[in-house]
Amino acid sequence: MRDEIVAAVKAAGVVGAGGAGFPTHVKINASVEIVIANGAECEPLLRADQQLMAKLSTKLILGLKTVMLATGARQGYIGLKRKYEEAVSNLQRDIKEMGETSIQLFFLPDIYPAGDEQVLVHEVTGKIVPEGGIPLQVGVVVSNVQTLVNVANALEGKAVTDKYVTIGGAVKKPVTLKVPIGIKVQELINIAGGAVVEPYAVIDGGPMMGKVIDPNSPVTKTTGGILVLPLDQSLVTNKNTPWQMIVNRAKAVCCNCLACTEACPRNLLGHSLEPHRVMQAIGKGQIGESEIYSRAFLCSECGACDTYGCTMGLSPRRVNAEIKKQLSKQGIKNPHHAKPQQVRTNREYHLIPTKRLIARLGISAYDVKAPLSDQEVPVREVKLPLSQHIGAPALPVVKVGDNVTKGDLIAVIPERASLGVNLHASISGQIVMVDNHCIGIRKV
Ligand code: SF4
Ligand code: SF4
Repeated sequence: MRDEIVAAVKAAGVVGAGGAGFPTHVKINASVEIVIANGAECEPLLRADQQLMAKLSTKLILGLKTVMLATGARQGYIGLKRKYEEAVSNLQRDIKEMGETSIQLFFLPDIYPAGDEQVLVHEVTGKIVPEGGIPLQVGVVVSNVQTLVNVANALEGKAVTDKYVTIGGAVKKPVTLKVPIGIKVQELINIAGGAVVEPYAVIDGGPMMGKVIDPNSPVTKTTGGILVLPLDQSLVTNKNTPWQMIVNRAKAVCCNCLACTEACPRNLLGHSLEPHRVMQAIGKGQIGESEIYSRAFLCSECGACDTYGCTMGLSPRRVNAEIKKQLSKQGIKNPHHAKPQQVRTNREYHLIPTKRLIARLGISAYDVKAPLSDQEVPVREVKLPLSQHIGAPALPVVKVGDNVTKGDLIAVIPERASLGVNLHASISGQIVMVDNHCIGIRKV
C-alpha cells in the first residue's frame, strides 16, 4: 500500500504547501504512530487554510487517511483553532459520516506560532521534538492541510497545478483565490482591487515569516499568501534593514534584557536556543564555529523575538538567519541535537496571543475577512520555476512550441537526484519559454 501511495504522490509533484517545499513522497515514506494535519494557519492575516478546510473537508480527511495508510499511523489529528467555525463544523460532520474513528480534531490555542511544526507536535501529543530535529524522531509526521488535499488529488491521478492564496493587507478587496501556479503576483493584487497605499511592499507569506518579493514573481507551490503593506510599515523596514545596520544596532542597543529569549517558542520548548546570547556575541567579532553562534541553527526564524519580544527594535531573527547562512557556507553543520525532557516551567505565561501580536505589529486595520471566491482567475501566461521545492531543480521534458494541456508533465525529477519534484502544466497552452530556471506557457 505504501509503495502505491508514495508513487502516486511522487508522480503528482506534491510538496509541503505550507513551508519550504519538502517533497511529500519522501516525507510519507516512513513509519510513524501519528499524522497531524496542520490547519493552524497561525500567521496573522492569512485566510486560505481555514477556508480550504471548510470547503474541502472531505478531501482533507481522505488525504490525511491516505498518509496514515502510507505511514502505518494509528492516529490522525487535524490541528486547528476553534474560531475556524465553519471548518470545525464541516470536519466534525464528515468525520462522523465517514465513520473515521482514528481521526479527530485537536483544538489549538490561538497563539503564534501554533503552526510551527515543533510547537504543533508538542501541543497535540505532549512530545518534544529534539532540538535541530524533525517530528519523525518522535514518531510523528506533520503535513499542511493544502498538502493533504493535494495527496487526495494525487490518488485520483490529479497533479498539483493550483494553489489557494489569500491576497490581503493594504488592498481594496482582500480575497482568497484558487490560482494557477506560475501566475504573476501583480495580477492577483489587481484582482484584489489593487494596493490602497503608495509606496508599498509585497510579502510572500505571512507578516511574521514572509519575505519581501518582486510583484512580478510567480506564485509557486509554496506561496503562503500575498500581503501588501506600506513600505514604511515596521514589519517591512525590519525585513529590509541591511545586515551591517542590524549588527551595528545589536552592538549599540542590546541591553541583554532576555525579552527575546523569553518570547522564543523554541526556547520555551526546552531547546537550548537563547537569542539574547547570540545578540551579545554578534557585537564582539567574526562569526565562526563557537558554541553560541552554532545555536543559531536551532532558530526557526519565526520572528517572535524581534516583532514581539524586543522593545528596542533589534532583530535576533535576522542575526540568526545570517549566522546560519555564514556557518553553512563554511561547511559547519548544526551540532546541537539534545532531546529536552520537559518544556520551560513558565511556558504558558509566555505564549503569544494572536490578537495581541496583531495589535503589536500595527496591522489591526488589515485583520479582516478575505472570503474564498469561486471566480475563475483570468490568466494569459504563467511562468513555472523549475525549483519550487527542496532538492534538485526539475528537468524540462518539453520544448518551445509544444502544446500542453493543464496537468501534463513538463519537468521531471533528475535521474540521480536524491530529492526532487515533478512539475506539471498549470494551464493549457503553448510552451513559450524553457531555460535553466523556468518554463513559460501561454494560452492560445
Ligand atoms: S530583547 Fe532586544 S534588547 Fe533585550 S536581549 Fe533581546 S535583542 Fe537585546
Ligand atoms: S526567530 Fe527568534 S523567537 Fe523565533 S525561533 Fe528564532 S530566536 Fe526564537
